[in-house]
Amino acid sequence: MKLYNTLTRKIEEFKPINPDEVKIYTCGPTVYDYAHIGNFTSYIYWDLLIRTLKLNGFTPKRILNLTDVGHLASDADEGEDKLEKGAKRENKSVFEVAEYYSNYFLEKYAELGLTPADKICKATDYVEQDMKLVDTLTEKGYTYETSDGVYFDTSKFPTYADFARLDLDHLRAGARVDFSSEKKNVSDFALWKFIREGEDHAMRWDYLGRPGYPGWHIECATIIHEELGETIDIHTGGIDHIPVHHTNEIAESEAAFSKKMCNFWIHSNFITIDNEKISKSLGNTYKLEELEEKGFSPLDFKMWVLQGHYQGTRNFSFTDLAAAKNRRLNWRNKAAAAFQAGEVELNEELKTKILEAVNNNLNSAEAFSIIDTNEMSFSDFKFIDELFGLKITEGIEELPDFIKRLIKEREEARNKKDFNLSDQIREELSENNIVVKDTPSGSVWQFLE
Ligand code: AMP
Ligand code: ZN
Repeated sequence: MKLYNTLTRKIEEFKPINPDEVKIYTCGPTVYDYAHIGNFTSYIYWDLLIRTLKLNGFTPKRILNLTDVGHLASDADEGEDKLEKGAKRENKSVFEVAEYYSNYFLEKYAELGLTPADKICKATDYVEQDMKLVDTLTEKGYTYETSDGVYFDTSKFPTYADFARLDLDHLRAGARVDFSSEKKNVSDFALWKFIREGEDHAMRWDYLGRPGYPGWHIECATIIHEELGETIDIHTGGIDHIPVHHTNEIAESEAAFSKKMCNFWIHSNFITIDNEKISKSLGNTYKLEELEEKGFSPLDFKMWVLQGHYQGTRNFSFTDLAAAKNRRLNWRNKAAAAFQAGEVELNEELKTKILEAVNNNLNSAEAFSIIDTNEMSFSDFKFIDELFGLKITEGIEELPDFIKRLIKEREEARNKKDFNLSDQIREELSENNIVVKDTPSGSVWQFLE
């Protein structure tokens, strides 16, 4: 199984530290607003990663975090905490906001049929451990205090620029003169933020004798260390995380524990709408419910995502979504036809070919074209469901008895040339999303949509 590793900028054969427990960490959402289709794009690709690992015989252990404190409006430690901002916007407490949007995220995550993480960790549950990590970094001489927090001194960590191939001279030259003037280096970042007197920040913990809250990156370094250990196999996130968030996670973790943090870093690219970057802060995006209002299920959206590659930029359009929906319906009806014809034998050769496609850096598009151009049995589609979680075979074997009865009654009515009755039954079937097609070898039912 090959993956593109951001660490080496190469496609590499994936080798786990221990195949029986492949340690994986996914940076989760900041739960201050509804997760949008852009956010879910990345989690759909990570679902494919997990499913592919499993089909290759690995046993993943995966942690997902929920950022419910410390992610500031700008990734560079400036601006308001996103959760506090959400709370003001909605006139709710930060805790209510975090709970509401966490639940929303997890509900949609389930509707998309994404493999649940083995554990979901809230940043606020790890603040004591964050403090310990900051203590360790301070003991090792990596930190300094300013009037607004404890900062990581990136000049003390010589490999800081390596991961993102940062040009620090360029960054320095481009920095605004007034960049948080107490920072020693432009790339230094907050491990912990102090809450100034009179500052409105509901989430607060006492540390170093004053109220404060953890910086954004420390939660991931802490949770990884607490839940998975010093070195993990795979860390996933969006490409936006490379230059700041993941660079800082690596600095924190490797400076504190003197061990390589992670062997494979996998990053997903962004989707655009009308060729514009979409984001919660710009507000130019869709929620899954908005797609449903236009007749597209979350699984149609998942189909659209998996038609592309996690490293490519893609532009979202309803025309393309409609094409994905049709393709999924076509697969569902092929699976239904195969089931009705009793074609159930698994084609091992085909399975190997499809698995080879995704093993090549998660090339689902290639796998999809193999599916389109081959005869697929019902069991082959079952395998497709295991691999992609698109629920192609859902509801086929378990077609409700009353539908089966209606299909039979329609056939009998047609045999008796009772076309009124057969039309009536056809109407009833279509209300249940089923259509019956008459073919030379008898009638075959299909899904309408
Ligand atoms: P956030 O909740 O802002 O921390 O984002 C959660 C995840 O969604 C991150 O991994 C981002 O990289 C990813 N993400 C945000 N916007 C997009 C987008 N337009 N396309 C793909 N992924 C995105
Ligand atoms: Zn993270």
